[in-house]
Amino acid sequence: MAAPDPGQPGPAEHWDAVVVGGGVAGLVAARDLAASGLRTLVVEAREVVGGAVGRHVVAGLTLDSGAESFATRGGAVAELALELGVGERVVRPEPRGAWVQLAHGAGPLPRAGVLGIPTDPWAADVRQTVGTLGAVRASVDRMLPAWWGARGGDEVSLGSLVRRRMGPRVLERLVRPVVAGVHAADPDDLAVDAVAPGLRAALAQQGSLAGAVRSLRAAAPAGSAVAGFDGGLHVLVDALAADLAGRAGQIRTGVRVVAVRQLALAAEPPSFEVVTEDAEGAAGLLRADRLVVATPAAVGLLAGVAPQMAGVVLDPGAEVVLVALVLDAPALDAAPRGTGVLTSPAVQSQARGVRAKALTHGTAKWAWLAAAAGQGRHVVRLSYGVAGDDPGPRALPDDELTALALRDASTLLGTRLGADQLVASARVVWSQSLPRPSASHREAVARVRAAVAPTPGLAVCGAWVAGNGLASVVPDARAATRDLLGRQ
Ligand SMILES: Cc1cc2nc3c(=O)[nH]c(=O)nc-3n(C[C@H](O)[C@H](O)[C@H](O)COP(=O)(O)OP(=O)(O)OC[C@H]3O[C@@H](n4cnc5c(N)ncnc54)[C@H](O)[C@@H]3O)c2cc1C
Repeated sequence: MAAPDPGQPGPAEHWDAVVVGGGVAGLVAARDLAASGLRTLVVEAREVVGGAVGRHVVAGLTLDSGAESFATRGGAVAELALELGVGERVVRPEPRGAWVQLAHGAGPLPRAGVLGIPTDPWAADVRQTVGTLGAVRASVDRMLPAWWGARGGDEVSLGSLVRRRMGPRVLERLVRPVVAGVHAADPDDLAVDAVAPGLRAALAQQGSLAGAVRSLRAAAPAGSAVAGFDGGLHVLVDALAADLAGRAGQIRTGVRVVAVRQLALAAEPPSFEVVTEDAEGAAGLLRADRLVVATPAAVGLLAGVAPQMAGVVLDPGAEVVLVALVLDAPALDAAPRGTGVLTSPAVQSQARGVRAKALTHGTAKWAWLAAAAGQGRHVVRLSYGVAGDDPGPRALPDDELTALALRDASTLLGTRLGADQLVASARVVWSQSLPRPSASHREAVARVRAAVAPTPGLAVCGAWVAGNGLASVVPDARAATRDLLGRQ
C-alpha cells in the first residue's frame, strides 16, 4: 500500500467556526464565538498566539516584546478584561509624562493632548517645547474659521490640518514625533479621520483644534489615556486563551492557512474549506460553517470567496525593530525623562544624531516592572524604523545594534550608559504589524469590507481593517463577531 502523501490533506475536520490568525483580534473573535456555544478553532501560523502582543524573557524578566499598553478611549479593552476575570490587573502607568527629543534638546510632551496636539498652546509643558513663537502661532487656531484646514473629506491629512491651524512648530516638535512613535508613519501620509476619529467633527463643533482635542479628551475615561496590565499586556492574551480553552474552543499553533474555498453556494448552512500547512509541510483540511479571517493575509486567501477583493492592495507599514536593554543603572531611578522619549525626525537625520524613533523607560512607566527588576535595575526599550525608511539600523548585526541602542539611550535619557552597565539585551523584529492608516489603505479597507459583506458566514477583523492598537482592534473584532452571528 502506498504511504500517505503529506502534501495531500486527509478528510476534512468539521468545526462550527474557524478563525485564521491568533493575534488579539482572532482570539477575541474566537472567544466570543465560543461563548455563544460554537465549537471554534483558531489556526495560528506562529508557534505562539498573541501576534503583535508578544513576550520575551530578558535577564529573567518577562517583558512585552511588541505592544505594551492600550488606549483607554472607548473602554472596550478594560471591559473585555473584566469579562475575562483580569479586570483587577489593569494598571495605569506612573504619572510621569513623556518627553520629545528635538534638534536643540529635550522638552516635555503635552500631558493632555491627542497625538501630540495640545489642548492649550500656553500650557507650561507645551510652551517649553514649542517656544513662545510656536505658542503664539498655535493660538491663531482659535481665530481661524472652523473649516480652515479641515475641508477635503477623507483626504485631509493630519499633517496638513495641524500645520494650517497650529503652525509648523506644533507639527514638527509634537505631532510628528508622536505619530512616528505610535504609527511608524508621517502625519502628512495619514488621514485625520483614520488616526483621530471624531476630531474633525469636534473641530466643526468647537470652532478650534485645541477645543476639539479638549472635547475628545473630556469624552474619554478619566485619568491617563493609556493603561496596561500588571505583568505585561500579554496577560490579556493568556486570559483570552484560557477563557477559550474553558469553552468549546481550541487553538492550533504552528499551522498556516494557505487556501480557503467556499463550498457550493446552495450548501446549508454555508460552509468553507480551509487548507492548512504545518511547519513540516503537512497539509490539513478543515470545514467551517463560519470563517473569521483576522490577518491581512485575507486579501490573498479570500480571493476565490469574495471576488471583489481582487486587486486590493494594503499598505503593510514599516518594519519595526525593537531593542530591549536591561541595565544596572541606579542613575535611572530618578526617571530623568519620565516614562520615555520620542524623537523628532530632525534629530534622526542629523549626522551623529539619535537613530531611535522612540524610547520607553519601562521601569519608570510600570510599577510592577520596577518591582520585578529591583532597585537600580532598569528596562529601556528603543524602537527603530519608519515606513519607507531604508534598512538603516535594522540591518546591523546584534552587537552593533545593541551598541547603537546604548548610545541612543544615553543621549535620550541624558545619562551615561555604558556596556559595563548592560545586563542583557534582546532584539525583536515586527514586519507588517503596523499597517499605515493612509488614505489609500482606508480605501482598500472599504473595498475589503464591501467584498466580504455579501458572503454569509464570513467575517474579517484585525488591525489591518480596524486600525492599529487594541482600542480599535478589540471592539472591531467583537462587532464583526456579533454581525457574523446575527447574519446566521
Ligand atoms: C512593535 C509594536 C508595538 C505596538 N505597541 C502598541 C501599544 O503599545 N498599544 C496598542 O494598543 N497597540 C500597539 N501596537 C499595535 C497592536 O499590537 C496591534 O494593532 C494588534 O496587536 C494587532 O492585532 P491583530 O490580531 O489584528 O494582528 P496581529 O497581532 O498581527 O495577529 C495576526 C496573527 O495572524 C497570524 N497569521 C497571519 N497569517 C496567517 C495565516 N495564513 N494562517 C494562520 N495565521 C496567520 C500571525 O502569525 C499573527 O499571529 C503595536 C504593534 C507593534 C508591532
